[in-house]
Amino acid sequence: MTSASLSNETSVFAPSALLPEGWAEDVLFDLSSEGDIDAVHRGVASSAIPPGVQRCKGPVVPGMPNLHSHAFQRAMAGLAERSGPSDDSFWTWRQVMYGFVGSLTPDQAGAIAGQLYVEMLKAGYTAVGEFHYLHHGPDGLPYDDLAEMSRQVMGAAKRTGLGITHLPVLYGFGGFGGQTAGEGQRRFLNDPDRFLKLLEILFADAAGDPQAAIGIAPHSLRAVTPETLQAAVEGLAGFNPQAPIHIHISEQIKEVEDCLAWSGRRPVDWLYDNIDVDRRWCLIHATHMTEEETGRLASSGAVAGICPTTEANLGDGLFPARDFLAQNGTWGIGSDSHISISPVEELRWFEYGQRLAHRRRNLLGSEGEDQSVGAGLYRSALAGGAQALGRKIGRLEGGCRADLVVLDAEAPCLLGKNGDVLLDAMVFAGNVNPVRDVMVGGQWLVQEGRHRDEEALLLAFRSALEL
Ligand SMILES: [Zn+2]
Repeated sequence: MTSASLSNETSVFAPSALLPEGWAEDVLFDLSSEGDIDAVHRGVASSAIPPGVQRCKGPVVPGMPNLHSHAFQRAMAGLAERSGPSDDSFWTWRQVMYGFVGSLTPDQAGAIAGQLYVEMLKAGYTAVGEFHYLHHGPDGLPYDDLAEMSRQVMGAAKRTGLGITHLPVLYGFGGFGGQTAGEGQRRFLNDPDRFLKLLEILFADAAGDPQAAIGIAPHSLRAVTPETLQAAVEGLAGFNPQAPIHIHISEQIKEVEDCLAWSGRRPVDWLYDNIDVDRRWCLIHATHMTEEETGRLASSGAVAGICPTTEANLGDGLFPARDFLAQNGTWGIGSDSHISISPVEELRWFEYGQRLAHRRRNLLGSEGEDQSVGAGLYRSALAGGAQALGRKIGRLEGGCRADLVVLDAEAPCLLGKNGDVLLDAMVFAGNVNPVRDVMVGGQWLVQEGRHRDEEALLLAFRSALEL
């Protein structure tokens, strides 16, 4: 450490911080003018900190990537919770969603995304994977600007400061084998040609923006054919061969049965048989897998995108987490339908689902090791989320974005706790949000629990709800 580095104009001091190799005390982060971490200094004596350096008022952890979001669905959280047919399931929820989406305008979609992203930032999410399928007008015709709806959510991310990996969805069909899409799906539909035009616009929009990345999301094997899936994957490689590819898969038993009827193969098996699935891929849900499918997903290096509160809300089922983690599978978390916007709750329910199913405790730590389960979950979700979003995030080290979450050390549930035990307390007891301040890309967006622009964004959201 040199005195020159300590005189850096933009530096942040943390009394403790979760670095890639573990917790460290008295950490000074030097930030670049582009919002990256330039250098990390550990064990910096208080007397060596130059005046003017910002001092965090609590322990610092990397911001959590939220790898799966459908922004507009935030406004319908709570609207599908009435008892109805005894077989109420994902498919009946989807009907409510189609009704809601029918008349949503671009401005409304942008305002909903703005409010959602504020709530994400306040909860400690610092980046989102926006799995975006609401492309066209209510009549199914494209807007004059093909990217109108995408630009609404990209604009909401920019306005709020949240990092975004925008994943425009390829959605072409209503069921396996190229079945015609229904009325409720007409705002989502693109053929590969129009989809690639959209991609071209979005790659140009995001060029040079360190807070934005572009990937693709073939919606599901229900919504594409082998040919259109191939065309999208190949088309993406023409823009960026490393860009992320996300797909919903095996969320529902019916989906598995329909896939078997169509192809004789289960969805995850079909995907691995037919497509070169590697680390660029993120398989959302992957709830219903055989042991063999679980092994294929784990060994491919692709990310499993787990959305525990949405999967619970929709009655999807439980991801085979113990098998998958035993094979060193990579995973991250998403808030998906936004019935909850809390990394704490997603991580907790990932573990609690397994406890309830297996009637044992501490199941998702390293077996036989004295490891903090909450801290291990937090670290794994950082790594998997960062991989899935294809950005340099999730690690507090040189070259990564300066995405810092300052926890409130005075929150009753965290009082007197340090290091990994502090993360255990947060994950399993942090019902009152323990996030105090949030920096994304070197900018303080949330301070003392308030987002810099939250009043204006709430006002816009309020008027958007007057649908
Ligand atoms: Zn989803």
